[in-house]
Amino acid sequence: MTEAGTTGDLARQIDERIRRGRDRGQVPQIVLDLDGTLFDNVPRTKQILFDQARALFGGDAEITRTIRDLAEEAFEYNPVDTLRKHGIDDEETLGRLREAWARQFFGSDYLEHDAPLDGAVDAARAWWDQGAELNYMTGRHVPEMYLGTCRSLHEAGFPIGTIRTQLLMKPVFDLNDVEFKIETVPLIRRKGPIDLVVDNDPRVLNPLVRAVPEAIAVMVRTLHPKDAPTLAGGIPTVEDFRELMT
Ligand SMILES: [Mg+2]
Repeated sequence: MTEAGTTGDLARQIDERIRRGRDRGQVPQIVLDLDGTLFDNVPRTKQILFDQARALFGGDAEITRTIRDLAEEAFEYNPVDTLRKHGIDDEETLGRLREAWARQFFGSDYLEHDAPLDGAVDAARAWWDQGAELNYMTGRHVPEMYLGTCRSLHEAGFPIGTIRTQLLMKPVFDLNDVEFKIETVPLIRRKGPIDLVVDNDPRVLNPLVRAVPEAIAVMVRTLHPKDAPTLAGGIPTVEDFRELMT
């Protein structure tokens, strides 16, 4: 049970909010995070770690074999924590691999390995069909990630590039994700009432809810940092997007 009652109620409330806005001639706005929300990034991280470990240490190295055999469920938010938990404890090795991982993770080349979360494509399409506008608001940055992000949204089947869709990315890497998102909110609100915000990270969701108190906010329970604050009271959590569809 959540503040909104059962998640079935949540799904109905979302549809109702979209219908109400549309009946008033407005364009209801939906704000969706990408990493850890619409997409599961674990397959991307695993492939990058494996390729980089093989390049740095060789295919027979213990670390490379450990990564190859990792189950996707074993992954933590921080890939280095995942490896430490599985017996890799040489800090120099971990440091070199983390650096190599970050170079690829914040680029376009491996985005094809991301997997849409269950129900994410269907829910996004359904809300869009009902007349809502989809704002893909992400901490990814344009210079290295724009092309791969367009391709990955399009190939997964999310509405993108057409009316009532907008991809909102950071113009540069060195910008705080949370500040970027909070500053973007008023620009989205100018287009219509913000009815729904979905994110996977309490560091983002807590301030976002304060900035958009009028929206239904939902946290997707994927991965988030261990040191993230507790999720603000009253924000419902779901396993994936199937719980948000009527
Ligand atoms: Mg995220």
